[in-house]
Amino acid sequence: MQHLQERAGYLEACTRCSGCKWVPNIESDEFAQICPSVHYGKFHPYSGGGKMINAYALLKGLINYDDALIDTIYSCSNCGGCDVACKANFGDAYEPLAALYALRQQVVADGQLPEPLKRLLANLRATGNRFGYPPASRGRWCATVDVKRWPDQAADTVLYVGDLAFDEGAWPQLRDVIRRLGAAGVDVAIAGENEVDLGGLAFDIGDGGQARDLAEAFLRQVQGCPPRRLIICDDQAFAAVRNVFPRLGLVMPNVETLHLTEWLSGNFTGAARERQRVTYHDSCRLGRLGEAVQPWRGNWEVHEHYLKVRTPPVHTNFGAGVYDAPRHLLTAVNAEIVEMPRNRESAFCCGNGGGAKEFNPDFARSAGRERLREACSTGAELLISSCGGCVGHLKQIAEEDGLGIGVISLMDYLRQRSGEQQ
Ligand code: SF4
Ligand code: SF4
Repeated sequence: MQHLQERAGYLEACTRCSGCKWVPNIESDEFAQICPSVHYGKFHPYSGGGKMINAYALLKGLINYDDALIDTIYSCSNCGGCDVACKANFGDAYEPLAALYALRQQVVADGQLPEPLKRLLANLRATGNRFGYPPASRGRWCATVDVKRWPDQAADTVLYVGDLAFDEGAWPQLRDVIRRLGAAGVDVAIAGENEVDLGGLAFDIGDGGQARDLAEAFLRQVQGCPPRRLIICDDQAFAAVRNVFPRLGLVMPNVETLHLTEWLSGNFTGAARERQRVTYHDSCRLGRLGEAVQPWRGNWEVHEHYLKVRTPPVHTNFGAGVYDAPRHLLTAVNAEIVEMPRNRESAFCCGNGGGAKEFNPDFARSAGRERLREACSTGAELLISSCGGCVGHLKQIAEEDGLGIGVISLMDYLRQRSGEQQ
């Protein structure tokens, strides 16, 4: 129980208050829940705090693994909503997300990983991508694109595309980004078929060893041919650098790391179009998990005989994910943003991430339906998100359920509104 033992103090100290089920600032009674897992399971062990209790019970030998326990652990998108809610009340005192990561690492170490997630990890190990596609297919999107190839060729800026390389619908967007970077005079390169997964999904599932191997392979590329800047198109990959690398103790060399929306927001001019009401879905991986984690090293001190306090204090980067850049871009193309009650760090996850959809499609559908219900309540014509995974998942549900709202990726929307795609 090494992984849980390392979190024992936090698991024990959690106040069992259930605050991690609710958004920190409730704007709507109807849309007050922040945790898709307990929204689906309707049972305390599905919440962040409930998972901490079960982790503690496992550590103490009070319960054993069974299907019900595994369901509470993996019917969860590792979205970090519980972490934000807990931080809003207690700062970084309990860190439920770190407990969830430790719990999953313990599951893997104990050989209890469910089959669908074993297959994902096996695909990653064999092919370097979650889908099990031949490794060379990573380069199909850019086979005819005339741009430098990194790390063989040095460049000021490396564009990292991640799993969008396997999504043919995203290829025109990626080529458009290359064109925009070139037009802005940026010396840019891509890795193409030599691009490597950054380990975010492996870490989410609980395979810290594989996550480290993947992340280190990428860092070797960076060290071998360091760019000044890295621009990341894929939200999961962005979260890997910001949220996972520090948790693995890995340090990105001195390379400025931006999400694509951050670069675009300073380099995009839209054409005049008629105003359109849209709502924006903050993906967890760009928002909450796009915050730069700074691991804490120090000591616990007991104050007033019972209050555990960390010395030195923990650096909390609360609310520092990427929230403004996508909204600036939407405003630039004359979109009227109607916010959902749960937005920015309080956004309700669509249920697609962290291996949750592969493990339990019913959970993922439940979360997606709830998010779409909220989006429809705004009266917006379109739901827009930066994340290809969120968009694909929500679009599928909206179409299956015949909802009167369109779902589109931010990049596609920008291309449409700037007259580059009809
Ligand atoms: S994890 Fe935080 S918010 Fe949740 S029950 Fe524990 S102390 Fe309360
Ligand atoms: S990570 Fe998200 S889905 Fe999982 S327990 Fe926390 S809030 Fe719920």
